[in-house]
Amino acid sequence: MTVERAVAHARVIVVGDGVAGAAACVALAQAGLEPLWLVREGPDSRGANADPVGESLSPAAIPVLEEMGLGAILDSPRHRASQVTFSAWGSDALMERNAFLHLEGPGRVIDRRFFEAQLHEAADAVATRLIGEIDQMRPRDDGGWSLMLAGGDAVTADFLIDATGRAADLGRRLGVFERVDQLVAATAFLVQRDLDVEPTRATLIEAVAQGWWYATLLPDGRLALAFFSDPDLLPKNLSRDPDAWRDLLRRSIYVGRWVDDAGFAVETPPRLVSAGTARLQVPCIATSSGSGWAAIGDAAVAFDPLSSHGLTTALWTASRAGAAAAKWLAGDHEHLAAYARSVDAGFAGFLRQRDAIYGRERRFRDHPFWRRRLR
Ligand SMILES: Cc1cc2nc3c(=O)[nH]c(=O)nc-3n(C[C@H](O)[C@H](O)[C@H](O)COP(=O)(O)OP(=O)(O)OC[C@H]3O[C@@H](n4cnc5c(N)ncnc54)[C@H](O)[C@@H]3O)c2cc1C
Repeated sequence: MTVERAVAHARVIVVGDGVAGAAACVALAQAGLEPLWLVREGPDSRGANADPVGESLSPAAIPVLEEMGLGAILDSPRHRASQVTFSAWGSDALMERNAFLHLEGPGRVIDRRFFEAQLHEAADAVATRLIGEIDQMRPRDDGGWSLMLAGGDAVTADFLIDATGRAADLGRRLGVFERVDQLVAATAFLVQRDLDVEPTRATLIEAVAQGWWYATLLPDGRLALAFFSDPDLLPKNLSRDPDAWRDLLRRSIYVGRWVDDAGFAVETPPRLVSAGTARLQVPCIATSSGSGWAAIGDAAVAFDPLSSHGLTTALWTASRAGAAAAKWLAGDHEHLAAYARSVDAGFAGFLRQRDAIYGRERRFRDHPFWRRRLR
C-alpha cells in the first residue's frame, strides 16, 4: 500500500528501496512488525536510464532468501544459474573456476531490475510505502525519532533503518562513513548485433595494468560489462567518448576479443559509478541508551565488487537488523549489539580476503592501481 502523506507515527521506518530496504521490510514483518517504507519519488528511485548494477548473486545468498521465505524468486527464468567463471588474474592464462564447488550449488546471474521488482512486491505486501525524503531528523528524549520530510510532513518512529545504499543518508548524519579506497566502475550493458553467434554464458574476469574487467551475459541476452579502476587512472573523457571506452577494451587480452567475437556493439560511453570499499564506523546503536537505529546493505558496509558479496550482504544485514530491531523494541538490546559485532567481523574478514585476492596479481605490481592495493 502507498500513502501520499505522512502517517503520524510508525514503530519502524525503513528508508531506501534497494535490495536491502525491501528485504528489511520482509524481515520486520516476519518479526511481527508493520514497517513504514520511505522511498523516493517514482517506481524506481534510480530513474529509468540508470540500470542498477550487480548481476552475480553468490550462492551464500540462497539460504538467506530461503530464511525470509523468498527462495522461490530465484526460480524465475529471468535469472539463470552461473556455472563457470574464467579469470585471467595473476597470469596471462585463462583459468576456469567451477561453481559446483559451493555447498549451496551455483550462484545466479540475475536480472537485477526484475530481482528488485520481486523483492518490492514482497515488501509491498507487508509494509506501507510513503513517498518522500528526509529533510531533518532528530532523536527524541524518549528514545525514538522525529523526522521532518522535504515538503513539510512530520513523522515519528521508535526505530530507524538506513537502507539508502552508498549515500548512507541517515548513517552519515549519525556517524562517520569511512572510505578505504576510491574504486570506480565504468559500466555498460551491450546489445548483440551479430545474432548468428551464440555468446558464452561464462563470466569473465581479467586483470590489466590499470584495473580489472568483468563481463557476464545477462539472462535477457545483453552483456554486462564493467571496468574497475581508480578515478585518476581512467581516461579523462571516458564517460563522454565511446572511442576511449573501445580503446580501453582493445588493451585487454581477452575481454575485448570476447566482446568483438560475440558481435556485441560498443556504441555509447560507459556510466561511472562508485564501487569502492567503505563502511559506517558504527552501523547501529549498540548500547541500551539513545535512539534505536541500524544501517544495512551498502549503507553499513560497501564492498569492492570483486567479492560478489554486495547483494548477499544487503540481504543478510536486512534479515539480521530486522530481527534485532524487533528485539530492541521489545527491550532486548543484545541482538543489536551482536549485529554490530557481526558487521565489524564481516568487514574485517572481507578486508583480509580483498588483500589476498589483489595480492595474487603480481604482473602489474609497479602500476599505481595495484601498488595501492598490495600490502
Ligand atoms: C559496478 C558494480 C557492480 C556490482 N556487482 C555486484 C555483483 O555482481 N554481485 C553483488 O552481490 N554485488 C555487486 N555489487 C554491489 C551491489 O550492487 C550492492 O551491494 C547492492 O546494490 C546494495 O544494495 P542496497 O539496497 O544496500 O543499496 P542500493 O542498491 O544502492 O539501494 C539504495 C536505494 O536507496 C535510495 N536512496 C538513497 N538515498 C535515499 C534517501 N535519502 N531517501 C530515500 N531513498 C534513498 C537509492 O535511490 C536506492 O534506490 C556491485 C556494485 C557495483 C557498483
